[in-house]
Amino acid sequence: MSKLYRSLPSMDQILDAVTEESDIGGLPRPLVKNHASDFLDICREEIRSGAITTSEQLELAALLPRLIAYVRVKSKPHFRRVLNATGVVVHTNLGRSLLAKSAIEAVAEACGHYSNCEFDLSTGQRGSRYSHVEQILCDITGAEAALVVNNNAAAVFIMLETFAKGMEVIVSRGQLVEIGGSFRIPDVMTKSGAILHEVGATNRAHVHDYENAINDNTAALMRVHTSNFRIVGFTKEVTLPEMRELGDKYALPVIEDLGSGSLYSLEGEGLVGEPTVQQTVAQGADVVSFSGDKVLGGPQAGIIVGRKEYIDRIKKNPINRAMRIDKMTLAALEATLRLYLDMDVARQKVPTLKMITASQESLKSKARRLVEAVRNELGDDAKVGMKKGFSRVGGGAFPEYDLPGTMVTVEPKKISVGNLKDALLDTDPPLVARIEDDTFLLDPRTLTSTELKMAASALRQAVDILKK
Ligand SMILES: *Cc1c(COP(=O)(O)O)cnc(C)c1O
Repeated sequence: MSKLYRSLPSMDQILDAVTEESDIGGLPRPLVKNHASDFLDICREEIRSGAITTSEQLELAALLPRLIAYVRVKSKPHFRRVLNATGVVVHTNLGRSLLAKSAIEAVAEACGHYSNCEFDLSTGQRGSRYSHVEQILCDITGAEAALVVNNNAAAVFIMLETFAKGMEVIVSRGQLVEIGGSFRIPDVMTKSGAILHEVGATNRAHVHDYENAINDNTAALMRVHTSNFRIVGFTKEVTLPEMRELGDKYALPVIEDLGSGSLYSLEGEGLVGEPTVQQTVAQGADVVSFSGDKVLGGPQAGIIVGRKEYIDRIKKNPINRAMRIDKMTLAALEATLRLYLDMDVARQKVPTLKMITASQESLKSKARRLVEAVRNELGDDAKVGMKKGFSRVGGGAFPEYDLPGTMVTVEPKKISVGNLKDALLDTDPPLVARIEDDTFLLDPRTLTSTELKMAASALRQAVDILKK
């Protein structure tokens, strides 16, 4: 065995061989050295386990194809594009919302050049970075003032920390949500120093529950959008106008965490039950927070709008600085918001809205093109067809709604759908899709037109990987 260890090629031999390869030859030497050294460790392990038994197997020529493939895979950037064929539009694991073209351009412009990020061009003096989005947020939502922080979790935290540190906030038991990724309203509240005062039963809360809970240490009344779940049946929640009335009676601010927070009403698509930010502001919430990258379809951000006196207090909170958004977010957010100045433009240009509101005909035509592309690539290797199915909004919005559409089904021959799904994680780019009733399903809703061919090619690559 020790003779085998000594038969391993030297690092210099390996580095010279890798340099000959056109696509990875130019990689920095220290990087290649690390990967090569890991590869040699794998070989040593194989000698130990008995997988390698002869010195011929350890000759450079014999190891080279595997070594090159290993270095090629390992040296790819870690952050990569992925094809989303799941049909979940706001897919948190796959990066949530895609930015509109104008937003992408604004980001490139903002980070490749100097800008008036915090510079007032009318005075030549220092300016506020929030000025770029504050007015437009007020114009669209009807609020008096606005502020943007890193994400909605930060927005909820800073609202509570500002208004209710050491004091009580009244929330209905039915709204104490966990949205995943360890964000739970009760836990965020504890961290902010606010004291949760739960009222009502799981399925029902009444105005008098809130009223009875109000005491000298009450700082605010809060509503939390129940995002990712619904309580159905014998239920009651106190409405925002009722909360407003109570807030006025006891001089308490009404805070609303809207979660997804849409600026575009999706009622026309049959998606009801989620008020827009505009409606929430109009119904009298003092401060409203929502995400920039859920249904709004912009960059990751936590947007807070509401009455000026409250927003000003949040702005002065020193924690605000720790939650500051960067210039790329600002640029993308302003460009996205500009699209909302005309709701029809927003529906056509904001990818998230475009995908949610896609017509049945357009989805069917995309499915047909995808079928054709996949048949071209897979030929006899799979049976490819279409069937009716459902997509999801995702991002904790409209959890009870199925968006109808046309799915592409792929039934590979001699390959299990589970293996196909796994192999698709190794393709370039990787493709993520669903398995339903033992059928592999591609939902064209979340693939752009140019991605249809790429999806077909990924399937080809995956089948090739499995055939080897
Ligand atoms: C998604 C969500 C959050 C967190 O928003 P992020 O932008 O992901 O930080 C908070 N509250 C509710 C109700 C949500 O749905």
